[in-house]
Amino acid sequence: MMNIILLGAPGAGKGTQAEKICESFHIPQISTGNIIRAAMKNGTEAGKKAKAFVDAGQLVPDEVVIEMVDERLKQDDCKNGFILDGFPRTVPQAEALEQMGVQIDAVIDIEVPDEVIMQRLGGRRCCLHCGATYHISWNPPKVEGVCDKCGEELSIRKDDKPETIAERLRIYHSQTKPLEDYYKGRHKLHEVEGNRPVEAVTADVLSALRSLSPLEA
Ligand code: ADP
Ligand code: AMP
Repeated sequence: MMNIILLGAPGAGKGTQAEKICESFHIPQISTGNIIRAAMKNGTEAGKKAKAFVDAGQLVPDEVVIEMVDERLKQDDCKNGFILDGFPRTVPQAEALEQMGVQIDAVIDIEVPDEVIMQRLGGRRCCLHCGATYHISWNPPKVEGVCDKCGEELSIRKDDKPETIAERLRIYHSQTKPLEDYYKGRHKLHEVEGNRPVEAVTADVLSALRSLSPLEA
């Protein structure tokens, strides 16, 4: 049983590391960004509410995202643990998670400077079908423009343009960064230097998790 939160700026590598943790620990990745994008694509009520916020680089209102996570965590595949990627992003979201009765084992905080984030998100390519993430220079797919995992065409996210990235970073610093102290106070925070090659970051993330639960991976 391993309930994990991945914390970090947009583009810090949460999704990239979540994929690696999934492979080692066999627990699902719950990416609120992916859930929201799927809802937008399917035109659901929640998706319609979220769209203007996402496109402007702002956070979707807490109650909308909390409801999505509450529903997702009730599914069977979360019984042996899960990786929350991109949630919580505000203190009220973290409090809601506690009110749901969810115990968190570890919060992995991936630290990357803002100027590196700008470069990373500019070169990000995403698979809207399976959620896999690539970077044109630093983490390229085997075949340009095609997802390694499912063979679908890769896309550029609408919110990965420079002015929207700047807004997302501004919001990260004001709304999400306070969660570091929130989880430090609860003795859950593990800081990882994220401005290194993917494999080096993964090695630190997995060793932090294995030290908590040596029998699971
Ligand atoms: P997040 O989920 O935190 O928004 P992603 O995992 O999508 O971040 O990563 C953002 C971009 O940076 C992607 O293009 C990804 O391929 C790339 N990336 C992720 N980790 C690294 C790394 N350690 N070094 C270089 N590029 C990375
Ligand atoms: P991500 O894929 O994690 O970068 O998320 C993409 C966008 O979805 C964010 O910029 C927000 O608009 C929205 N979003 C994702 N997770 C949350 C969250 N926990 N709270 C509010 N909005 C979110």
